[in-house]
Amino acid sequence: MASEFDLIRRYFTRHADSAVLGVGDDCALLQPRPGMQLAVSSDMLVEGQHFLRGTDPRRLGHKTLAVNLSDLAAMGADARWALLSIALPAADESWIAAFSTGFFSLAQTFGVDLVGGDTTRGPLCLAVTVIGELPGGLALRRDGARAGDDIWVSGSTGEAALGLAHLQGRIRLPDELAARCIDRLEVPQPRLELGGRLRGVASAAIDVSDGLLADLGHVLEASDLGALIELERIPRSGALNSCPDGELAEQCLLAGGDDYELLFAAASSRHDEIVAIGAELGVAVTRIGTAVDGVGKVRVIRADGTTVSPSRTGFDHFSVD
Ligand code: ADP
Ligand code: MG
Repeated sequence: MASEFDLIRRYFTRHADSAVLGVGDDCALLQPRPGMQLAVSSDMLVEGQHFLRGTDPRRLGHKTLAVNLSDLAAMGADARWALLSIALPAADESWIAAFSTGFFSLAQTFGVDLVGGDTTRGPLCLAVTVIGELPGGLALRRDGARAGDDIWVSGSTGEAALGLAHLQGRIRLPDELAARCIDRLEVPQPRLELGGRLRGVASAAIDVSDGLLADLGHVLEASDLGALIELERIPRSGALNSCPDGELAEQCLLAGGDDYELLFAAASSRHDEIVAIGAELGVAVTRIGTAVDGVGKVRVIRADGTTVSPSRTGFDHFSVD
């Protein structure tokens, strides 16, 4: 059976061009580029909590890194390095090889080098720390929104949560829809290019991991604002529109989570610039509402002026619902 060190060498050691020293010593050595600030973030994925037992390991490798890169995107940072700490119940080499393939394939897409981590036996748990860079003072913080700013979302929300509902047997989607929604759940695409281009353009940003309204709430709370969101403006994918359960689809849209889209605020004078950035990158960007005075309150209204009262706004690991 392979030792801890064999596993690290075989599956988690790759040449790291961007590091002074990568995997293999007590620490990695990293040199940020002149004038750059480091953006650092960790996210942990626990089996049964963040992914279902039996999830395809290659997809899990992708998602483990993707959810972390999404945080760098939401800050407007360029991704540079990652550390991977992994607890495995057994040294199942075909599982580890597939996981590593998914992880490194996404890392390569965005020029991220794996420079360290930890490998131990235990209940399956995957923790990544990512490190990015951005020019000082240009980070897209949650607390930068101003009253009157437009509120935007990239792509569309809800499909990942619908995919999860399907896998959990809460709804039965037609095969093609199910496949699309499960792809959104298991192979999310971090919006790094968009985040980078929004530096100096957006006033605040967050990535949608817990649910559109919940994550909007975090920005508003940090910025001491409220918001008016127009339900019909929120982009709905074809999958959501053709979902046989309209109520579930709307709940997924507003509160589903696992979308890894960017939700951001920007002065209305930036409108055309943002539309042009979206067009250039081939990423849908949609204005869904406006930031207003009044701390923490999100009002979602329909076109006829009535207010939507969602039963929940998003996912919270420690609240029971
Ligand atoms: P230490 O005993 O100092 O914690 P380890 O034996 O845990 O060192 O790790 C040896 C080297 O391998 C270190 O450079 C560490 O960062 C790296 N490493 C361990 N596990 C992983 C992993 N899953 N992915 C990437 N690097 C890893
Ligand atoms: Mg160690």
